[in-house]
Amino acid sequence: MKTSDGNTLVHGHNQCVVCMTLEKTDELLVHPKGVDPKVKIIADWFVCDACKQPVSQGFIHVVGVRNEEPPENIKDMDRTGEVAVVSMSLFADLFSADMPDNGVMFCGPDVMAGLKKLRDVQKEHAGQEEKHIIH
Ligand SMILES: [Zn+2]
Repeated sequence: MKTSDGNTLVHGHNQCVVCMTLEKTDELLVHPKGVDPKVKIIADWFVCDACKQPVSQGFIHVVGVRNEEPPENIKDMDRTGEVAVVSMSLFADLFSADMPDNGVMFCGPDVMAGLKKLRDVQKEHAGQEEKHIIH
């Protein structure tokens, strides 16, 4: 669908803040001329059903980013591609931060490295205790 000034109207997409899955929305947005029409326009961020599941079971997604300071817009997060899924009880032990409402937290490389070490320790003791990091 074209607007009178030659731009294209396209469906916006919501993007999962954890796994980056796109979900088409009913909202029509202006796709400016000159922008590759294949580029999806992100209307909003959400947590998809698949990512909500561990949250409903008491886990938090810890998404690895390289940013030193949190950017104003989530799209400016420089993701490392690593996501740890950590139990809320471990989260409470490790971080002084409040439990995130949507079950998603961003962390820098140091925190992610620490979580990986904990996961490796947990693997060595598999079966002996409750799992606090599921991946
Ligand atoms: Zn997701």
